[in-house]
Amino acid sequence: MDLSRGMGWLGPAQYVQSPRAKAAALSLWHDPDYLGALALAEQTQIASPEVKERYGLGTTANPVFPEMWRRPATSAGASLLAGELLAQGGIVYSPAGGTHHGMPARANGFCYLNDPVLAILSLRRSGVRRVAYIDIDAHHPDGVEVAFGADPDVLMISTHEENRWPRTGALEDVGAGTLFNLPLPAGLNDTEMAEIRDRLILPSVASFAPEAIVLQCGADAVTEDPLSRLTLSNNSHWQIVAALMEMAPRNLVLGGGGYNPWSVGRLWTGVWATLNGHLIPEVLPPVAQSVLRGLEFQNHRLGRNPPDHWFSTLRDSPRNGEVRPKVRDGLARLCARIQPEF
Ligand SMILES: [Zn+2]
Repeated sequence: MDLSRGMGWLGPAQYVQSPRAKAAALSLWHDPDYLGALALAEQTQIASPEVKERYGLGTTANPVFPEMWRRPATSAGASLLAGELLAQGGIVYSPAGGTHHGMPARANGFCYLNDPVLAILSLRRSGVRRVAYIDIDAHHPDGVEVAFGADPDVLMISTHEENRWPRTGALEDVGAGTLFNLPLPAGLNDTEMAEIRDRLILPSVASFAPEAIVLQCGADAVTEDPLSRLTLSNNSHWQIVAALMEMAPRNLVLGGGGYNPWSVGRLWTGVWATLNGHLIPEVLPPVAQSVLRGLEFQNHRLGRNPPDHWFSTLRDSPRNGEVRPKVRDGLARLCARIQPEF
């Protein structure tokens, strides 16, 4: 947001404060006992062994921290609100959302709540039935699949790195027939992602004809991200955003994973530029550069000597390459399942 403001792209008229969701609203999908345990853990800053065992709180993946209830309840509040704001159509961008691992009664993968699920349920409450959920985070959205994998009114497409936690999301999974999982090998390049976009994502969304699209636009499948071994440039993400926003009357774009502050800020600011049709300059103005220069990545090798283009540009150089047989084969299998009309 600071970077978007530094670019002059985010005026007050375009910004809506997210309400912090109350437990009653979150119980649309989450178990009330779990919500109580999560709120209590924030208050006490302790998770008992029982709470740790039962709800996954207080683990390395889902640690106790000062805002462990307020922070996720606020981003979930944004997703619930988005479902209301989009009743009549439009585009909402909530980069703090995209916590796609959360389970109904359990924290999972640093996701204490599952705001993409809540967004889709909120859209349903606004009268929207058919939703396409596209997830280009490096990790498989296991929580969202638990909620909607068997729902024929949700088209679910996930591209994620193979053999990576949570290790769900197999190519063979079909769910209700509208579930598409594409595990991808390390070193995924922009050419491969363009092929996935043009042969799988766009055609299946076109034939599904959704009333709303929810895009989880996690920033962890780029080369600069330390958590995945996928090697996209941010151009891949922006091109998918640009193509999808034309395909349904309602669009919700969420964030997701992303573990290098510079690549996250540059990618998600570029998403905002794409949604608004702003031209991304070759070299950023000084105010925007100072936002990037002010970031820190403590105790990590990537934070020691950041290259200059992490400060001075938004757009990565394209990372093209050959489309490898593994990608081509997986894609062919999924493409064969696209129906003329779902
Ligand atoms: Zn991720």
